[in-house]
Amino acid sequence: MKIGVFGGAFDPIHQGHLRLACEFANRLSFDRVILIPSSIPPHKLRSVMASAQDRIEMCRLATKDNPLFEISDIEIKRGGVSYTADTLNQLAEKYQNPELFLIMGADMFLTLGTWHRFDDIIKNAVFCAARRNDCDTQKLKDYAEVLQKRGARCIIEEIPEFPVSSTDIRRKIQMGESLEGLVSPLVDEYIKTRGLYKSTQNNGNSDRQFIEIIRGRLSPRRFNHSLAVAEQAAHLATIYDADPKKAYTAGILHDIMKDAGAQAQLQMLSDFDIILYNVEMGIPSCWHAIAGAAFIEHILRIDDNDIINAVRYHTTARAGMSPLEATIFIADFTSADRDYPDVDEMRRLAEQGMEPAIEYALSYTIRELAAKSALIHPDSVHAYNQQISARRKGGRYSGSKTKR
Ligand code: ATP
Repeated sequence: MKIGVFGGAFDPIHQGHLRLACEFANRLSFDRVILIPSSIPPHKLRSVMASAQDRIEMCRLATKDNPLFEISDIEIKRGGVSYTADTLNQLAEKYQNPELFLIMGADMFLTLGTWHRFDDIIKNAVFCAARRNDCDTQKLKDYAEVLQKRGARCIIEEIPEFPVSSTDIRRKIQMGESLEGLVSPLVDEYIKTRGLYKSTQNNGNSDRQFIEIIRGRLSPRRFNHSLAVAEQAAHLATIYDADPKKAYTAGILHDIMKDAGAQAQLQMLSDFDIILYNVEMGIPSCWHAIAGAAFIEHILRIDDNDIINAVRYHTTARAGMSPLEATIFIADFTSADRDYPDVDEMRRLAEQGMEPAIEYALSYTIRELAAKSALIHPDSVHAYNQQISARRKGGRYSGSKTKR
């Protein structure tokens, strides 16, 4: 049996989704297409989402008259972050020997190299992708070649684009504009009756979602460390004049790529065209921070540069750190789970202010690295020099808020 598997937030489902799925189903003769609304999407986070029940109901209404479609709640029932690898395993078990085709638009296809348990996914499914937004088919074909070298099977089709996104739909609802032609009439009616997407208010869900995401990506020890850093960061932020909410978020996310392994870290850098300096190539312990910043910017779509930089520089520090960057750097040294010979002194200094804490942390790190004849990242040396010069001049540590 040939099954098209189409996952997404479907928040809400629109004609672009349906057009893509139907085109692939016709061209590749699928026996059915399973639409699978995600529980917590690993790639597109938003703090406000319609409930799972509403998203499922809209999928049901949108496909009511088309027997090709089936709606599945397996990701909703599984809960937590919805990893495609798990979903495909469940489907492979449920249908005996199915041929599974994973349908997606260009935006998702181009991030495939970073997906959790990519090697499991490619065993179970063929990727089916088509152009979207400003990405042309040739770019997809080029990326398909990269994925094929990793063992993936890809089908890229030239399908005329239906230019709409769920984001457009939600924005139109907030502006009071018509959804005619963009969603099915039944979905339109459902949205109106339920009063969906009228509020843009952040309901505080994003940190909860981030915690679920790191739970799936980190070892239990590292997961607990990340929560401890988040707690400590929220506390230190109040002393260092940083935003405690952002500090908490950056603390949760700071090690998001740490357990991914060197190969995945380098792959992430290459996916987002990030080039390491020669000396950085020789310091694998800083790769997770650079890859982590890329992950939260491009995959989690965090658009706050200060949070991105706090993750980026949490290992090396840098000269001119913002208060938030310094907060995460020090919180990582002083979180409740830390246990090293100087930790008490480090914690005492952390309570006194940013400058003494940064100086102590940097001199500790530089001493430790030099004792092992390890390379020292130039950002750490610059940060250290800046601290010493500022103290000698009796000047204040100067921070820059958003420069990258
Ligand atoms: P949002 O605007 O909230 O990011 P979205 O419109 O991209 O949402 P999702 O539910 O996140 O919708 O997408 C599910 C899948 O459908 C993804 O693989 C996405 O690439 C694809 N998709 C969504 N809209 C279109 C479209 N107009 N044309 C082609 N593919 C699309």
